[in-house]
Formats: sequence, structure tokens, C-alpha cells
Amino acid sequence: MTKYEALKKYFGYSSFRTGQETLVDALLSGRDAMGIMPTGAGKSLCYQIPALLLPGITIVISPLISLMKDQVATLNQAGIHAAYLNSSLTSGQYKTALQNLIRGQYKIVYVAPERLLTDSFIDAARRIDISMISVDEAHCISQWGQDFRPSYLHIPDFLDHLAHRPVIGAFTATATREVREDILSLLALQNPVHIVTGFDRKNLRFTVQQPASKLKAMFEILRSRTDECGIIYCLTRKTVEEVCEELIRKGYSATRYHAGLSDTERQHNQDDFLYDRKQIMVATNAFGMGIDKSNVRYVIHYNMPKNIESYYQEAGRAGRDGLPSDCILLYSGQDVVTNQFFIDRMEPLPDTDEETASAIRAREQERLKQMTFYCFTNDCLRAYILRYFGEYGEGYCGNCSNCLTQFEEKDMTEIANKLISCIKSSRREYGLVTIADTVHGSQNTKILRAHLDDNPYYGSCKDIPIHLLRQVLNSLAIHGYLKISDGEYPVLQLTDTSQKLLKGEPFPMKIAKERPKPATGKSSKSEASGNSSVCYDRSLFEKLRILRLEIARQEKVPPYIVFSDKTLTQMCILLPKTKEEMLCVSGIGEMKYAKYGERFLSAIQRG
Ligand code: ADP
Ligand code: MG
Repeated sequence: MTKYEALKKYFGYSSFRTGQETLVDALLSGRDAMGIMPTGAGKSLCYQIPALLLPGITIVISPLISLMKDQVATLNQAGIHAAYLNSSLTSGQYKTALQNLIRGQYKIVYVAPERLLTDSFIDAARRIDISMISVDEAHCISQWGQDFRPSYLHIPDFLDHLAHRPVIGAFTATATREVREDILSLLALQNPVHIVTGFDRKNLRFTVQQPASKLKAMFEILRSRTDECGIIYCLTRKTVEEVCEELIRKGYSATRYHAGLSDTERQHNQDDFLYDRKQIMVATNAFGMGIDKSNVRYVIHYNMPKNIESYYQEAGRAGRDGLPSDCILLYSGQDVVTNQFFIDRMEPLPDTDEETASAIRAREQERLKQMTFYCFTNDCLRAYILRYFGEYGEGYCGNCSNCLTQFEEKDMTEIANKLISCIKSSRREYGLVTIADTVHGSQNTKILRAHLDDNPYYGSCKDIPIHLLRQVLNSLAIHGYLKISDGEYPVLQLTDTSQKLLKGEPFPMKIAKERPKPATGKSSKSEASGNSSVCYDRSLFEKLRILRLEIARQEKVPPYIVFSDKTLTQMCILLPKTKEEMLCVSGIGEMKYAKYGERFLSAIQRG
């Protein structure tokens, strides 16, 4: 079997995506490989195809039970024998799985990193022919990443126990240099093929809003999305509870996920979402790693997350099937305060000295700042994110709230001058809110107590809306005319270039002509990639969706593992009548056809 045949037969795809083929080829030829690709790019196939074609067994090291479960279910659905070894198995089940592994019943086995150095696993591993080790979510090996897992550091020790070193593949969506270098060196990859694909996800539309009421804004967004699945991320457990309760009270089908719930409840709620029993998941960032649910149509951030890495990873859970999807961030100043609170109380990792701990804290601070700037930039949001990850491209995507908003350039020189002068003439350093309040002429106690009403610039911008003053301050910081200090209470500081403004350098700023339309509804969808620009019969889609749900219930797997929304949409467009035509649909291979092909054919025939 060739790699193309495997791709079609087991996965139902007729071509590789960017980067996949190079990585597959490398692993097949026995050369180590590292794939850095964004969430949803299709990293799994890069090792699953070689796993099928290589003579022996592939061990996949994976950090999360939910992730393994999902992947193993997908593989078994596709007719590939796979299993997982982790703490969700009883000791009896674990033993049986190990025996099956030794007997050669699996082609691919997922294992939790904590199991690698156990006697029973090492013993089994030495008795089988391992062709490849694939390290999924490889960033877990780095202390610089979000998700450091000390047991990932055991991987090299485990390799030492093997009679011969199999080829190694490492995969992650985390693109920062430190993490990449850690993966290369800690896993001791040998002359690896190294692929970093573009981080752009064209089907995602990015939106930032700063609503007066987040709850109202959220309901407005949901109004046009009644039949779609989505995730709403909140920063704290308390907010998750509140938002979820509001949703349920208004009759939405919602569930919740955070670290304060029991394991059983978390699992139950997660399954409700994965199996399409609940439409909306309200969660903290504890939810999501390894969630491959492909039909998440929107991700709303009810709060700004702590950094762009987290944001892109969480937002990236939308639209994994490639269909147009929305990523909407609802910003408020309080989000900065909450994140700052988390940074200040960050537990140092075990075995870190004070110096490293404080370096990590400083880095988190900087990342938070970059995240905040994202919420204030008037430039292309996509370009902002991509630049953050080191990609430079066009500054206009036409598919984010900034590119879709009409801006006009306004001269802000006078306001900028007053703000900078106010900072310059105050005796102490103050935060952004206080400075804006001062020039606005606010009478609040903080201003009065600090005698800021004596500042010569007090009230000098009293006719300018406060939100605009804050926007100008942020824009000054983004462009380096001001600095926002680190520390528990970030304050505004002058920079070398602040003077230039006072000496008459102009400060033009892009200002929205009107408030951005609330997270534009469905009308705009046809612009993005995907199939939705083509007309198809929604009622047929509904029928196929119900059939998929029936099958998923019978087989006890999430519906998207049977077929993705994209596959169903394509069926509605192509209306296949024969097996051959059915096999042309993306996502339908021989294996899936044999299982479900005829039921779907006759459903399409009935119309
Ligand atoms: P990642 O691990 O990179 O986040 P996955 O491996 O989970 O992404 O893949 C995301 C989705 O893309 C899956 O639904 C997968 O079936 C699909 N996919 C992967 N490769 C291809 C391909 N060559 N053609 C079409 N779809 C693909
Ligand atoms: Mg993955």
C-alpha cells in the first residue's frame, strides 16, 4: 500500500495538506521529524500514515486521556487497530491491553508519559517491534510552554531501554523558539526534517469587542447561531458558573467545565458536548487540549486570556473541519487585572530557582501586554497574531473585525500631547485608567486623594469620551511613545520617543467610523473558504445529521468521529448516487464506506 492509498482508504482524503507529505516521507524513510503546525492542521495524519505503512508498531506519547480516547476512537472507526494505555483503565483492562499489545493486535498504541518508565510497560516494549515513537503535543516537554509535563522528560530514558532506537516524530502547535529548541534538544532528535507550516487559519474570522455588557453582547452573538456548537471561555470558575447559569436560564443547551468540578462531572459534561447532547460548552482554559471536535462553529472568549499563545490555541478549536467559524473576544479592563492577579500568584514549577521563576514571571507579564495590545489594535487582527508567531504577511485579511470595520484616520496629536504632558507633570507614576480619568476631569476618590485635580492637565480633555482616551493611551504604548511597566500595578512611563510628540511629531490614529457590527452573523460566511458559498439543501443536511447521531449513539462515539460536518456538507452538495461517487466525498474512505456508505446513500436518495 502506498501513502496515497492509505490516505484514501483509511481516512477518505485524496490529497495531503501543506507539510504533511514531507513529514510522512521523512518518517517512512527512517528520518526523525518535527512538525510545527497550528491546531487543526492535521498533525495526527503525519504519524498515523507512516504508522500504517511501517512494519512494526507505533507508540504515540500523548498527554491527555481525552485526546487519546478521541484519537483511538477515530482510528478504530477507520478500521485501524489502536488502543490506549492510561490511568482511565482498570488494572485488569490495562493488563489485557498490554497482552494484546505483545500479541501484536494493535498497530498504534497511545500511552501516557507517566507509564513509560513503569516495569510492565518497559517489559512489553522490549518484547515488541517498535517502528516509530511519535510525541504528540511535544511542547509539553518544555518548561517555557504552557503545559509543561515533567514526565515528558522521561521519554529519552524510555528510549534508552529499547534494544534499538525507533524513528521519532515530534508534533506541536506551539511555535516559540524556546519551545522548539527544547523539543529538539531534550528529545535528542537526530538530524530531523523540520517543518513549520503557516499559522494562518483562513476559515477563522477574528473579532474583538469591548461591550458595556458582556452578557448582552454574548446573547447577541448567540442569537444567530441557534443550531451551532460553540465554546465560551471564561477566566475564572466563578464566571463559568454565572455564564452557564444565565444561558441555561434563557433556555440554551449549555454545560460547563472547570477544575472545581469532580472528575466524573467534568467527564460527563465534556461528553455531553462532544456527543452533541449539549451545544454550548462554558469552560475555563482547563477544557480543550486534545478536543478534536471538528464542528465547533464559534469560540467566544468571555474574558481576555493571558497571552496570544493561549488565545490562538483556544480560538483555534473553532472550525477544525475547515468551514467558516468565528473567534470572538469580549474585552474589558478587568480582564487585565484578573490575569495580573494570576501571574502574581503563579506557583513556581518544581525545581526552579528564584531567578528562573522571576524570569518566567517577567515573560508572562510581557505576554499579557501583547495580548492586551491585540484588543486595542486597529490593524488587521490576523496579521497581529501571525506577526506574534514570527510570520510577516499582508496587513489586510478582509476577515477580521478590524478589516471589516470602516476606519478613518484622525489626528490625535493634541490629545496625545495632553496625555503625555499629564504623565510628565504628575509627581508619581500612575496606571492607564488613572491618567485617562485625570485628563477627563474625573472626580473619583482615587483622583482626589492623589490630588491629581491639581495636575495642570486635569480636565484638559473633558469633552473626549473616556474610552477614546484609553484607546489613545494604548495606541501610544503600542507605538512605543509610552511604556507600560511590569509589576503588580503596571504604570505608564515616558520613553525616549515621548519627547518627539511634545516637539510636534503628528500622531494620527485609525478610529472606527461606527461601532463594529456585533460579530457579524451568517451572511458573511460565504466569503471565507469552505463549501458554504455553494447552495445546498439544509433540510437534507439535517436529515443526514440525525442519521449520523443515530449511528454515533449506537456505536458510542461522538458524531464527528462518524463523519465531520464538512463530509456531510459535501454529501449534500455532490448528492452521490453510487459507491464510486460516495468515495469522492472528502472524509469517506473504503473503511467508512463499508460501515455507513449505504445508509447514507439511501438517506440521500430519499432526500
Ligand atoms: P492537529 O492535531 O494538527 O490539531 P488533527 O490531526 O486533529 O489536527 O486534524 C484536524 C482535522 O483535519 C481532522 O478532522 C482531520 O481528519 C483533518 N485532516 C487531516 N489531514 C487532512 C487532509 N489531508 N485532508 C483533509 N482533512 C484532513
Ligand atoms: Mg493533534
